[in-house]
Amino acid sequence: MSADAKRSGRGRRVAAETRRLARIAELLEDEYGAPKRRASRDLIGSLVSTVLSQNTRDANSGRAYSQLRVRFPTWGDVADARPRSIESAIRSGGLARTKAGRIRTILRSIEREEGSLDLSFLRELPTEEVLDYLRGFEGVGAKTAACVALFGLGRDVMPVDTHVHRVVGRLGVIGPGRGPEATFAALRDVVPRGKSLSLHVNLIRLGRTVCRPRRPGCGECPLRRLCAHARGIQKMA
Ligand code: SF4
Repeated sequence: MSADAKRSGRGRRVAAETRRLARIAELLEDEYGAPKRRASRDLIGSLVSTVLSQNTRDANSGRAYSQLRVRFPTWGDVADARPRSIESAIRSGGLARTKAGRIRTILRSIEREEGSLDLSFLRELPTEEVLDYLRGFEGVGAKTAACVALFGLGRDVMPVDTHVHRVVGRLGVIGPGRGPEATFAALRDVVPRGKSLSLHVNLIRLGRTVCRPRRPGCGECPLRRLCAHARGIQKMA
């Protein structure tokens, strides 16, 4: 097969997956509504709250973030604090020792490299450079970087958490056997323009309530007609 033929074959597959994801986004918006974009003015806050949200529930990380802000009024105060003090402020967010060290190291590194605790320069960078910059910090992977780009900067990039990874895998949007980082990279080609926020938020809602890790509720799922997993169950029945 020629290189051109391979390219056009791949182009057709990408276009077909993009159309399917557009339909998925539409069905989920019918079910849950279209989430509104709310870009953050405080990019450091967006980065810190996303680090706090790693491996814990939103309610716990939200409480940890509030307690951190009450205890340390400025980000400079956090950068100068003893790790133990940060750890005690964010205890409700889980993995407090690891996250305290991570947050303090990130803040100190921004202050050292950029001359101040300010990430507003990211607003001027292309999305790839934003993601590369953020992933340069220890403890910041593809998901955390993409969350800051999406929720902090309003960029059209879809973070892949455990729910999104499981649901798109069952839907058959991506091939089997990929980890979340590889899924994130694969989805970047096929998520329809302007639909990253909607798909991210609504796939998580579906993953928490219907497409649960065990015993997914395919009978009540708005995506069942588009889903490879559901078709497999039907064939076996
Ligand atoms: S049809 Fe079933 S497996 Fe497919 S997305 Fe819905 S709940 Fe998940």
